[in-house]
Amino acid sequence: MLKQEKQVNQHLIKWYAQNKRELPWRKLYKNNLPNPYYVFVSEYMLQQTTVNTVKERFIEFINYWPTLKKLATATEPQILKFWSGLGYYSRARNLLKATKIINKKFNSKIPNNYEDLILLPGIGDYTAKAILGIALNKSVMPLDANIERILLRLHAIDKPINKVKNILKDLGNKFISDKYSSNLIQSFMDYGSEICLPRNPKCDICGINIFCQSYKKNLQLKIPIKLKKKTIKPIKYTRAYVIVNEKNEILVRNRSSKGMLASMLEVPNDVWVKNKKSLITDQDMQQITTKLKSKGSFEYSFSHFDLEAEIFYGNVKKAKFLNGNWIKKSAYSNSRMPTVMKKIVELAV
Ligand code: SF4
Repeated sequence: MLKQEKQVNQHLIKWYAQNKRELPWRKLYKNNLPNPYYVFVSEYMLQQTTVNTVKERFIEFINYWPTLKKLATATEPQILKFWSGLGYYSRARNLLKATKIINKKFNSKIPNNYEDLILLPGIGDYTAKAILGIALNKSVMPLDANIERILLRLHAIDKPINKVKNILKDLGNKFISDKYSSNLIQSFMDYGSEICLPRNPKCDICGINIFCQSYKKNLQLKIPIKLKKKTIKPIKYTRAYVIVNEKNEILVRNRSSKGMLASMLEVPNDVWVKNKKSLITDQDMQQITTKLKSKGSFEYSFSHFDLEAEIFYGNVKKAKFLNGNWIKKSAYSNSRMPTVMKKIVELAV
């Protein structure tokens, strides 16, 4: 390790000892390291979700499933129900699949090598290294957004992140610690979220500013370079039907086991289309003779597209839907419905 990287590491480790964030998955377990199962779960939760949101839900999760063995007994509907509100449900499915594999193939122990971890569902290069480094103190450097930003600034790299991924990997590897990998990785992450902030980095109090090329050249507010072109998300259209019977129950069904929001609960809705004019009334709604009331339009943003739904509400007699699945109106918010469906019901009832 070069002298400069060594000094940066020393400062960050020292800073971390006094300033680390108290996070539930960091609680020390054995050998002064966190519980590998906690780190494993938290890394799935943290993909696409902020630390603050994950904090509370993580504690709830661990109360439900305190060990990997226990989680391996869970069913997909159970974990999907829990995941409601966190979004990106494929993470929940992958977490459960990976858990069952670890339980069966690795005797309930999180694998301690990259080759086995990377083959598990939902685990990519970053997550594999985060688990190895944070939970098992292996000498690796996972690059999350905080660490990438620090590296870009230290080296005054004025190119968009996606153009310099390999360069960042090489630069990050220069900081790898032989002995204190877990603390070092977490110190980088915390430093990025407390000192080397995305918008207003606290350079004046930064203990590594003497090594920072951006600070030297006064570029710290310009780096990381943002891509100017904002992609406009496509819109899809649907009509959603909130049908309530005389027992105050809502008509629901299971979504297909493949594709978006797979296996979750939904209210009947038309197939989502790109052109509003090509909407076709959902089959389940074709047997409804009651006049439905329009409850207006609603927009929901997914990562790759926006959904515009026109919501309809109607009352029917339960006896007319002998094959229908119903859930109590009072229970939908706690059901296996994804957030988009809960919002639709909320607006209709
Ligand atoms: S000097 Fe500023 S930009 Fe450079 S590492 Fe420190 S906080 Fe980040």
